[in-house]
Amino acid sequence: MSRGLLFVISGPSGAGKGTICQAYLKEADHTWLSISATTRSPRNGEVHGEHYFFLDREEFEQRIQDGDFLEYANVYGNYYGTPRSLVEEKLEKGYDVILEIDIQGALNVQSNTDEGIFVFILPPSMEELKARIIRRGSETPESLIRRFESAFEEINYVSRYNYAVINTTVPEALDSVRAIVRAEKCRVGRVLPNIKELQGEMPDGKKDHD
Ligand code: 5GP
Repeated sequence: MSRGLLFVISGPSGAGKGTICQAYLKEADHTWLSISATTRSPRNGEVHGEHYFFLDREEFEQRIQDGDFLEYANVYGNYYGTPRSLVEEKLEKGYDVILEIDIQGALNVQSNTDEGIFVFILPPSMEELKARIIRRGSETPESLIRRFESAFEEINYVSRYNYAVINTTVPEALDSVRAIVRAEKCRVGRVLPNIKELQGEMPDGKKDHD
C-alpha cells in the first residue's frame, strides 16, 4: 500500500471550503478529513472528537510544547492545530488526508514537511463572499467585519498554493477538486513505483532483455 496524499485546503471564511470538502468526502474512497484541535468554544451541534477536539488554552499550549501538532495557528484569537500522529497514521495506511486549515497553517505545513498539495478555494466575488458569511448567520457583527477584512488579506496568499478553485457553484468546484486529485494521482513520480513490472517491456510484450 503506497502512502496516501496530503491535501491542504484553505480559503477565506465563506468561500465554501467546508461545503466542498464535505461533498468530496461523501464520494471519495480512502479519504480522511483531519480533525483539528481548537481552543474556541463548540458551536451548536458540534461534537468533541468529531468536528474538533475542544481543548482549553493550557492543554493546547502543553501540546504545542510536546510537538504534537503538524501545524498550529492563532485564528481570530483562538488556537487551531492539526494533530500530527493521527495524520501520519492515516497517510501511512494509504489514506488520502485532507486538512481544512487557515492560510498561516498551510504555510506552516509547507515549512514543516516536504509533502502536501495546496488548494485555495476562492469566492466568485467579494460581494458574494460577504453575502455568504451573512447568510451563514453564525457571526456577530464584529466577527463578520473581522472575517471579511481578513479575507482581503488572505486572498493575496493564493500564489503560495498549487491550485486555485473558484467556487461559483458547488458542483463545478467539486469537479475541479476531483480533477486535481486525479491529476495528482497520475504524477509520474507517484505511478512509477507501482508499475515496476511494466518497465522494460517492449511494445510486442517481449521483455527488452529477452
Ligand atoms: P471555524 O472557527 O470557522 O471552525 O474555523 C476558523 C478557521 O480556522 C477556518 O479558516 C478553518 O479552516 C481554520 N482551521 C480549522 N482547523 C485548523 C487547524 O487545525 N489549523 C489551522 N491552522 N487552521 C484551522
